[in-house]
Amino acid sequence: MTNNRVTGRTRVCGLIGDRVEHSVSPMMHGAAFRKLGLDYVYVTFKVMPESLPEAVAGMRALNIRGLNVTIPHKIAVMGLLDEVDTHARGIGAVNTIVNDNGVLKGYNTDAPGFLRALREAGVEPAGKKILILGAGGAARGICYALAESGARLVILNRQVERATALARSLAPVARESVEALPLHETSLQNEIKDADILVNATSVGMTPDIDHSLVPAHLLHDKLVVFDIIGIPARTKLFQEAAAAGARTIAGLEMLVWQGALSFELWTGQSAPFELMHREAQKALQHEE
Ligand code: NAP
Repeated sequence: MTNNRVTGRTRVCGLIGDRVEHSVSPMMHGAAFRKLGLDYVYVTFKVMPESLPEAVAGMRALNIRGLNVTIPHKIAVMGLLDEVDTHARGIGAVNTIVNDNGVLKGYNTDAPGFLRALREAGVEPAGKKILILGAGGAARGICYALAESGARLVILNRQVERATALARSLAPVARESVEALPLHETSLQNEIKDADILVNATSVGMTPDIDHSLVPAHLLHDKLVVFDIIGIPARTKLFQEAAAAGARTIAGLEMLVWQGALSFELWTGQSAPFELMHREAQKALQHEE
């Protein structure tokens, strides 16, 4: 066991992506390993798309225990693994790899992380009308988790054909209707009136684009739960305007910490110290803002 030292037995976990410099995961996981007395470290690896196959081969060769996978590798990495968990396959993206003696298995903890964050805030999605803004990688996992949970979905995206393709791909798991619409003020205005939950799964509002929100403030209302999955800034323009309109708000940090906690549990087999991870991630994010 070690507190701060790397030893001959230290197991390695980490993150691969093309922009990993601002990740809060090393602080969040490092604190959790120390708290539980686990001889693990978490490091980031900047990996460009052309090097992904070598990076995955390196994980096997160097017996790296676990990796998180971020932009732009979540889809491409699936073809390089020995196994992919059923949910991750359904979502079409892997954000966590576990190395069991050379056998690499991929999972997706973004989607259950989002759902856990929603439920921990006391919001049950089953039977609710949920507007999702965005149809990119993050929206995909979120829509999959929500559709499977029995929510009614309306996916709004700037490029509507991406929303339509996403809606179609959810047919095997959706228990309620899934609609796709172009994202503009009229469609938002029509759909938001009787919506229960609004999820921003686009990058609009993220640092440095902090003065923008896709939802005009006058459309927000106090019957809404607004979940903005953006991590930095912690309180986006949408988040602040939703709070001012009396809506309940959930920040991206909650999803980030839950996905991390679920990855931690897959690598270590131990219950993640969620509160500590939350505090550490929050501290690290404030530092980045
Ligand atoms: P992505 O695959 O690149 O998708 C980006 C999405 O944003 C697309 O739907 C895109 O619409 C939309 N978009 C971008 N600029 C826009 C604009 N000016 N107007 C309207 N729509 C616009 O990215 P992603 O991986 O899904 O990530 C999206 C966001 O989620 C990022 O901010 C990321 O940091 C955040 N995220 C947070 C967590 C967490 O744990 N909290 C996890 C994952 C991601 P088009 O399709 O029309 O281009």
